[in-house]
Formats: sequence, C-alpha cells, structure tokens
Amino acid sequence: MNTDLIIIGGGYASVMAANRAAGRSGRVTLVNAGATFVERIRLHEVAAGSRDSAELPLASVLHLDVELMVGWAERIDAEGQKVFLADGRIIGYDGLVYAVGSTSPVMPSGTFSIASHGEALRLRARLASFGFGSVDVIGGGLTGVELAAEIASARPDLRVRLRTRGPGGASLEIAGGNTVQRHLERLGIVVTAQEREAASAGIASITVMTAGFVNAYRLVDTADGFSKSAQMTPPEALI
Ligand SMILES: Cc1cc2nc3c(=O)[nH]c(=O)nc-3n(C[C@H](O)[C@H](O)[C@H](O)COP(=O)(O)OP(=O)(O)OC[C@H]3O[C@@H](n4cnc5c(N)ncnc54)[C@H](O)[C@@H]3O)c2cc1C
Repeated sequence: MNTDLIIIGGGYASVMAANRAAGRSGRVTLVNAGATFVERIRLHEVAAGSRDSAELPLASVLHLDVELMVGWAERIDAEGQKVFLADGRIIGYDGLVYAVGSTSPVMPSGTFSIASHGEALRLRARLASFGFGSVDVIGGGLTGVELAAEIASARPDLRVRLRTRGPGGASLEIAGGNTVQRHLERLGIVVTAQEREAASAGIASITVMTAGFVNAYRLVDTADGFSKSAQMTPPEALI
C-alpha cells in the first residue's frame, strides 16, 4: 500500500515506528522539535556529571528512507489529514503516529528534574557549584533510584536522600526494592518516606523531582481542529 506516513515525535517510540515503516509504505516523515535524539535513559548520568551528553544527531539513528523534518507540530486537522507546524509548514498524510512522549509536571520553584536533556544539564550545573549539603531525590521508582545512586557515586561528599512514598515507612516503588535499598545504603544513601518531612529547596539542599512525569503536549480537538494545549495525563493524548 502506498501511504504517506507522518510520525510526530523523535524519541524511542517514534524512531522505532519510523524505521520499521521505512521502505514498507510510501513516504515516511518524522517531525520532531529538534534535530537531536535524546537517550533519555542516560539523563541521570548527564545530571550527575558522569556522561557529557546523551544527545545524538537524530538523522544518525533514522533509516535512510525516513525524511526528518525539524519543527513543532502545533495543530492536526484530522478530517483534512494535515499537520500544521508552528513555522507555517503544512504536511498532508494518509497515516499519522502521535508519539510526543512525556515531560516533567509543573514543579515547585527551585526544584530540579531530569525529564529532558536541558533539565539534566541544569541540574549538573547546580551540582557542580554545590560545595556541601544534601540532595533530595523525590520518587522511589527506577529513575529516582538510578539518579540517587549516580549522584552518590559521583559526589560522595554530598548527603543523598531518596524520598519515596510508602505507608508506615520508606519503601521503594520497584520490584526487589529491599535488595536495591541495601545497595543504596551501602552508597550512603538514606531512603526515607517523603511524608515524614517536607522536602524543600534551599542554599544547602537540592531537590530533584523524578516522579509524576506527564504526557507532553497534546493536540486537542477545538472548533478549528486540533491544537496544542497544556500538559495532560494519558491516555487521551493518543489520537
Ligand atoms: C532519567 C531517565 C531514565 C530512564 N530510564 C529508563 C530505563 O532504564 N528503561 C526504560 O524503559 N525507560 C527509562 N526511562 C523512560 C524512557 O526514557 C521513556 O519511557 C521514553 O523516553 C519514552 O519514549 P517516547 O518516544 O515515548 O518519548 P520521548 O523520548 O519523550 O520523545 C518524545 C519526542 O517528541 C518530541 N515532541 C514532543 N511534542 C512535539 C511536538 N508537538 N512537535 C514535535 N515534536 C514533539 C520531543 O521533543 C521528543 O523528542 C527513563 C527516563 C528518564 C527521564
């Protein structure tokens, strides 16, 4: 079948979809906000300073038959089968894949996140200028565990606390939590229930949120089609 496919997003999901579709249907176009592919699963290393960058040229991970279009998808006209980019370009499609990923929720001011490459670099810069004190990593899931362990390994001079929810005490929100917790404690990380003490950002502390990522922007159905709205929760993001 000769169909033109548009894939919005340039993360793992979009790249996999584009590369699998390439050569099997008509033209495959991937629309992404930037020209880089971000290895998000490495962002805790970037933040802790143990890796310089987690970015690759997006073109280097794409099948040669995939056309890369750098731009921000602002609106979808589902009936007319068109995507409108913020810079004025309009592209028609037969099939559309909407895979815009997730981002950090609205966060208290002064706190950090590692949801994006930019946010990871911001945390790295803060850590680099942070002489002494404590780092509170909020969220006892895999991302929180990875980040706390990475920072504690890179900066044994800092006090790292991993704050997790857990009725009646701290418990990691992952399988094998007790074993992982013992390893973390060997690195000097204190695992503690968040409810016991409100985490706050200050001169002698850094707070990093790793919990509650939300879907990125959605393109909502409005009177004149679909347009970008605020952050939202899944699953309505998928069109
Ligand atoms: C520090 C960290 C560690 C992690 N570790 C693991 C792990 O070990 N294992 C694991 O399975 N998962 C891990 N994850 C989760 C994993 O990274 C995500 O599940 C994955 O990135 C989701 O991929 P995605 O393609 O859906 O979206 P994303 O990777 O978020 O990519 C979405 C892309 O869409 C683009 N985009 C968004 N809106 C638009 C628009 N309107 N127009 C154009 N482009 C747009 C964005 O710029 C981005 O390039 C980790 C995440 C983090 C932050």
